[in-house]
This record gives sequence, structure tokens and C-alpha cells, in this order.
Amino acid sequence: MDIRVRALETLLIDKGFVDPAALDVLIDTYEHRVGPHNGAQVIARAWADPDYRAWLLEDATAAIGSEEGFGYRGRQGEHMVALENTPKLHNMVVCTLCSCYPWPVLGLPPVWYKSAPYRSRVVMDPRGVLGDFGVTLPEQTEIRVWDSTAEMRYLVLPMRPDGTEGWSQEQLARLVTRDSMIGTGFALDPAQLADAGGDA
Ligand code: FE
Repeated sequence: MDIRVRALETLLIDKGFVDPAALDVLIDTYEHRVGPHNGAQVIARAWADPDYRAWLLEDATAAIGSEEGFGYRGRQGEHMVALENTPKLHNMVVCTLCSCYPWPVLGLPPVWYKSAPYRSRVVMDPRGVLGDFGVTLPEQTEIRVWDSTAEMRYLVLPMRPDGTEGWSQEQLARLVTRDSMIGTGFALDPAQLADAGGDA
């Protein structure tokens, strides 16, 4: 696949269809500028600031994309919906059709998100899929699976971990994992951050 992509790229550049500098900008964008660290900022602010949380749940597109929000917008982030996880309700996101994913806040999707087994099984057996991710929910917690569309993209607002009272937005952001924003994981708890070499 690598070789085929490179051959195609060389051909397109040679024929003048593609500007190599433009390709570099695109790659740099999705390697460095856009990624789950953006979503983590959104989640951390929602945890730290009740007004922001209310705005995010009311109008995620504006709360994420507007200048008063974060200005995270662009392709695949035009229509955003935030889904709040609670002890009673756990939200998970999939694209059963292909791989729709909120790029401006999460970057490009992981390989498993695009895999046929995830896409088909999460709908039929969400609890089993969560188990594969090492996530166990109480029996009484309802699980809701949201199917992304060509337009609508979802961001899960995970539960704020215990023991983080008084933490700053920057500290909180370090607890937010990519999977917790898809619904296939939880946010880290402070002890896990310490295990990972953190100092919070
Ligand atoms: Fe899709």
C-alpha cells in the first residue's frame, strides 16, 4: 500500500496535478495540528466550566468551532453533536456505513474504527465490544450507539474522573483519551496519570 501511494503521488506531482507543498501542509495538519488533543481541550473545558458544558450540549458545532469556542472547524466537523456520558447512560459512536469521524476534534480515525468487525458488532453487541476494549459497565447502565452520517459527527463527553476537584483545564485535559471521546473507553483517573509518568 505504501508503495502504491508513493507511486500515485509521484505521478500526480509529475503531471502537475498536485503541488507537493500543499501535500506537506495537509500531512502536517493531520499529524500535528489536528488530533485528539483538540477534543481533550473541549472536554476539559466542559468539565471545568458549567456554562461551557451547557453550551457544548446545546450547540456543539458553535461551542467547538466558533471563535468564542475553540475555532476547531473544517471538514468533517461541520455539524457536531456532543453526547454526555453519565452513570445511567453510556454513549458510543460508530459509522456503520464507512468511517465518518469528527476530524477537527479527533484527527483521523484509528484503524479499528474503520474495521468491519467494529462497525457491525458495536450495533449488535455493544457490551461485548466494550469488553474487548477492557471496559465494563454496570448492568443497569444503558448503552446507546450513535451512527455517524455524512453530515452529523459525534463527540462523547466522558464522565469526569473522581479525585480531580479543583484541577485546572490543562490538568484535566491530560486525562482525556481519544477512546473516551468515542465511547470505547473512560477518561483516565488521576492514579493512571501518575503511572504514566505524570506529575498532576
Ligand atoms: Fe462514514
